[in-house]
Amino acid sequence: MVPGVRLVLLGRQGAGKGTQCVRLSRHYVVPHISTGDMLRSAAKSGTDFGRQVSWYMHAGELVPDDVMIKVVEHRLDQHDTKNRGFILDGFPRTVAQAEALEDLLIPDGLDLVLDLEVPTEIVLERLASRRVCAVCGTIFGIDNPPRWRNICDSCGGELIHRDDDTEDSIRRRLELYASSTEPLISWYLERHKLAAVDGLGPPERVSARLIRAIDNRRHHPAEYLG
Ligand code: ADP
Repeated sequence: MVPGVRLVLLGRQGAGKGTQCVRLSRHYVVPHISTGDMLRSAAKSGTDFGRQVSWYMHAGELVPDDVMIKVVEHRLDQHDTKNRGFILDGFPRTVAQAEALEDLLIPDGLDLVLDLEVPTEIVLERLASRRVCAVCGTIFGIDNPPRWRNICDSCGGELIHRDDDTEDSIRRRLELYASSTEPLISWYLERHKLAAVDGLGPPERVSARLIRAIDNRRHHPAEYLG
């Protein structure tokens, strides 16, 4: 078995983070922590917290940093992440969140931050065709269409449009990615934690590139010290 790992995946909406995180989490046997999935399931369950965050999600706005930091702090405190590590998907999204994550991870820190690079014109095409299984969450799209229209290949569930995948919300989320999250690329680069990976091509090719970057970092950490 490949030992655990502590990773962050960055990339704009539609870059394929969700799909790749599922694959990486199987490969390294670590939990995939998607803040978007956590918030969506809270919103669905109708708790007070869910009601509070669903406004932000529908509008494509960021949930406030202090709220998100508490959510992630609680999740990172569980046994599975403490013992094996994690793959963070959708967090950090701001420099304040990245700073808080550094503090939460003392003394071990992150192994690596991967930036999944896909140009904006391609993510717009992918987002327009994105469908998600309402039952198991598997993601389908232009590059990996389902075998049967609107039916999940994995579990037979119904494929739906994510309700925040409206034109306005997508535009706002991409704007916020550029203004709040993209600065993290140079922030992590300065800290010798970043590897950029080409996100174009079939999912299995992209996974192979990510795994190569992660294993390279694990076996030759000094190369990143610049
Ligand atoms: P996407 O990357 O397509 O925007 P996600 O599933 O990662 O989708 O997130 C959905 C929504 O959840 C975001 O638009 C935002 O409202 C909220 N969200 C998720 N993660 C964070 C975070 N780290 N900070 C603030 N808001 C977040």
